[in-house]
Amino acid sequence: MTEQKSRRRFLKLAVAASTLPLLEKIAREPAYADLPLLTVDNPQATGLSYVEDATTSGHALYKAGNNCSNCQLFTAETGACSLFPGFAVAPEGWCAAWMKRA
Ligand code: SF4
Repeated sequence: MTEQKSRRRFLKLAVAASTLPLLEKIAREPAYADLPLLTVDNPQATGLSYVEDATTSGHALYKAGNNCSNCQLFTAETGACSLFPGFAVAPEGWCAAWMKRA
């Protein structure tokens, strides 16, 4: 095996090894499509004035630009919100519990 082939093989193995943790993480977490989408008629969602489109919110706490995708409680990989376990929320949604991402 030439030195160039050996180096190429080493680089391929290094790239493969570096992607393993990411692949494991993806395999462990439920996919966005695995969670049912939270609906506005869910009692807890209603209580927090959840809307699927933040720009339609007339709530006094709503500020333009705030939505689920930039909320501290949102997990982008799954669409989950820690306030609504078992559901995905719309990234462009909003509710009165919105928290600025740290
Ligand atoms: Fe969206 Fe944040 Fe409200 Fe969850 S807490 S529904 S992520 S605005």
